[in-house]
Amino acid sequence: MFENENVVSVMRDLYVKTPKALKTLLADLCKRGYEIKDLRKDEHRHDRGATVKQMEENGWSLWYASLPDLRRGKCKSCGSLISVVGVHSHGHKCEVCGEVTYYDLVDGSTLTFVFNDDGERGFMSPQLRMKVRFWDVESGILYLYPEFLEGGLSVVTGERAEAYLKRNSNSWRYGSVGDGKVIAIDYSFQWNRATAKIEPYDSYGHYWNCSIVKVWEGKEYSEFDRLPIPESMSIFEAWHWSPLPATPHLHERILSAAGQVSDKGYYYQDGRQAFYPGQWQEMAKFVRHFTVLDGDRFDAAWPRFRNSGPGGIDDLAHFCHSNPVVENRPNIGNALVAAGKLIEGQPLTEDEKREAVRGAKTDEGIDFIRGLLGKKR
Ligand SMILES: [Zn+2]
Repeated sequence: MFENENVVSVMRDLYVKTPKALKTLLADLCKRGYEIKDLRKDEHRHDRGATVKQMEENGWSLWYASLPDLRRGKCKSCGSLISVVGVHSHGHKCEVCGEVTYYDLVDGSTLTFVFNDDGERGFMSPQLRMKVRFWDVESGILYLYPEFLEGGLSVVTGERAEAYLKRNSNSWRYGSVGDGKVIAIDYSFQWNRATAKIEPYDSYGHYWNCSIVKVWEGKEYSEFDRLPIPESMSIFEAWHWSPLPATPHLHERILSAAGQVSDKGYYYQDGRQAFYPGQWQEMAKFVRHFTVLDGDRFDAAWPRFRNSGPGGIDDLAHFCHSNPVVENRPNIGNALVAAGKLIEGQPLTEDEKREAVRGAKTDEGIDFIRGLLGKKR
């Protein structure tokens, strides 16, 4: 969309070849509604801990363009587009028709919680999961059906739940809603740890009367749809560093431009596919425009590269340089994957066996095995 002979898109980021092309591009982006951050400015550069010169020479992104928040609520009662602020807050009303857009807890919702001041508060403290009858927000009282539902590891039922409830009897009372007997707990809309009787852990069964949409140039998209233009992108000034020479590390820059890790140890070692044609094609654009390598030759070569992580990296690295330096850090993940396969009776390749042994010999690997055996260092 913003590409031309001096602007190349790689993984939706933009690499610009000349200062003049950059000026045009930034003006274009502004016109399309992007907000642009100058990453040379102290406020943005601070976290990266680098000088402007380092950012330029190392080829870091120098600009960041993003569309403003395009999300709007869409009321299901009247169909209006409304502000997203508070739209998923219990009892929030549509500013156009006045209908409620969302209730967190309604009759039949499930709530998991703990008593706030129970002595047993901690990682494995008991939790209760119960069905909601009614949340009276005005009085700040939550009414629950007096039954215990099953849940995760910490959710207690039966006698343990009764005992937990009894131990915290100063935090609730019996009540009734209609003809039904319920458990009443003070639970206000503005939850406050210092005064709250319970702390909610999770809830589901909400009432939704509103969806989230994105609106761009007058058209509606669903919350997770991709817009025709990127919602954000990094912009690189290639003239500071391009073309990159054919060094033993060049493949790392190419992989990084395509968002890929260049350490062989990071990948599965059983030959499974890690690289896909789309990623090689993005790398091909980078190779053609920003390295001294021959783009046509690369286009012809990559379809024959291996697609596994370690194989693909080796093939790319050897294309870039006759004597490349390829990172292959031992990785405990490879030891764990191999152990899992052995337990399931699956065969291991020679590469997997070698990398499993290397992974187990790392500090993390040794700690892990000592942990299993219950031994301290
Ligand atoms: Zn409405």
